[in-house]
Amino acid sequence: MVEEKQQIALPGEKLCVLEEFLSGKGTKTSVDGTVFATVIGRVVFDRKRREVHVEAVKEPDNIAVGDIVLGEVKELQTRSAVVKILGKNGKLLKHHRTAVLLTKQGSKESLGRHVSVGDVILAKVTSIISGLINISIWEPGLGVLQAVCDNCGSIMTCVKKDKYNVYCPKCRKFDTRKMVNHYGNEKKLLSWLGLTS
Ligand SMILES: [Zn+2]
Repeated sequence: MVEEKQQIALPGEKLCVLEEFLSGKGTKTSVDGTVFATVIGRVVFDRKRREVHVEAVKEPDNIAVGDIVLGEVKELQTRSAVVKILGKNGKLLKHHRTAVLLTKQGSKESLGRHVSVGDVILAKVTSIISGLINISIWEPGLGVLQAVCDNCGSIMTCVKKDKYNVYCPKCRKFDTRKMVNHYGNEKKLLSWLGLTS
């Protein structure tokens, strides 16, 4: 076989450089020739075509109150964020849905102290009113699964420094997030993609 199935990629994850593989479906190339994933899925290196692509794993969808959803933060304002729902209860959705995340009730803090655009989050569906899905990350166990640097777009790592709990290894920015208990836990991501035994 010319195809070789490898790891799971998240949006923004570096896959290879252009000299190694060309950018296929579910990927894009940055100005410096690095190929990134643009969707969550299985990474396939097609050696015959010298191309890398990312296959999204999908499931039928029907979102209900109480569902635990996997989402990507798309837009951020002071009190609310628009989140693209990618999966629910451990399975990826066939069609992405849009949800709204609000600041913690009674909190005066800006939502940007807890999430940022590009972050992958675990959230709970709290209400669905006229098709508008509201989600929350304020319970323990919910929150940011993977943080993306709002300065340079790199994937941040977990740290403990003063009030900060995430760090960008590329531009060295420290920031804060409302984290899940298992930040960047690969097992959790794999289970979301239905790949655990
Ligand atoms: Zn950065």
